[in-house]
Amino acid sequence: VEPILQVSGLTTELGDPTRPALVVDGLTLDIRAGETLALLGESGCGKSMTALSLMRLLPPSGRIKAGSVRLEGTELLTLTEAEMRQVRGGRMAMIFQEPQTALNPVLTIATQIGEAVRLHQGDVRRGRETERVVELLRAVGIPDPEQRLNEYPHQLSGGMKQRVMIAMALAGNPRLLIADEPTTALDVTIQAQVLQLLKRIQATNSLAVLLITHDLGVVAETANRLAVMYAGQIVETAPVSEFFKRPLHPYSRHLLESLPEASKRGRRLAVIPGRVPPLGAQFQGCRFVERCPAAIERCRLEVPEWQVLVEGRGVRCHLAETSGPATAVHPADPK
Ligand code: SF4
Ligand code: MG
Repeated sequence: VEPILQVSGLTTELGDPTRPALVVDGLTLDIRAGETLALLGESGCGKSMTALSLMRLLPPSGRIKAGSVRLEGTELLTLTEAEMRQVRGGRMAMIFQEPQTALNPVLTIATQIGEAVRLHQGDVRRGRETERVVELLRAVGIPDPEQRLNEYPHQLSGGMKQRVMIAMALAGNPRLLIADEPTTALDVTIQAQVLQLLKRIQATNSLAVLLITHDLGVVAETANRLAVMYAGQIVETAPVSEFFKRPLHPYSRHLLESLPEASKRGRRLAVIPGRVPPLGAQFQGCRFVERCPAAIERCRLEVPEWQVLVEGRGVRCHLAETSGPATAVHPADPK
């Protein structure tokens, strides 16, 4: 089956074109129907810029320099802005960390979701539109949806607002849902409920989901595969179960080791010594070298190439190369 989303060589820069900051650098990934791919990394690694590039919603100082983004076979990077508007909120929808920034404070729930319904289902008539809004609110687990239609965003709790955002995202019957830290702003109990909801909605609609997170607990609960991002590049990809058993990149190992056993959810990843390189930093060798406990001389001088070990399992590190695929792949891998 052809993937819903196929991204290849996506490269995005920000700022002054004569001294640009490369925020996404040659990113390649794909996601199939019914699959959740988690994009994991600390903040400042380029995760959100990846999402905004896919949606073509970059800030004015940003531009996509190279690559290809195909949604069900359609190249998005060459669409006109008018065509892209039909895709956004239609076949491809996005939910954000802070639902209040995406909801209009002066419009009722019914009006906002109704607008999304109208935009992507052209000829839905007025009466039918309300029915559809109620149906969407019910699908995202909002109790007594008929009673909530005339409420405004400020009358809803954080969890309810996120549910309304998800309902809006579903209005256009998307095939791909991009969720950027969808539960980070919520308290732990509500987080779990929203994650459950996302899982259920994904299964019901057989969606492809790109889940952006800094939280390994969220990855473990929600994703099938993950891609670890560092300084604008993917440094490791793996099925989630493989990753937890045997992370290959030193950065991945750091992420896992920095998790206290008792509480895997809700921990920030910033406990790793050192910082993500600043935007626009220049690199001669490996981007992780300043923080890597395994670094050798070669790491400063030579860029580690991306190596595919088996399908769906890749890593960008000189040491993974020298130890070779035979030992780098988990021996019990059933695939
Ligand atoms: Fe560490 Fe070297 Fe591998 Fe980079 S290439 S992650 S510095 S061992
Ligand atoms: Mg972010």
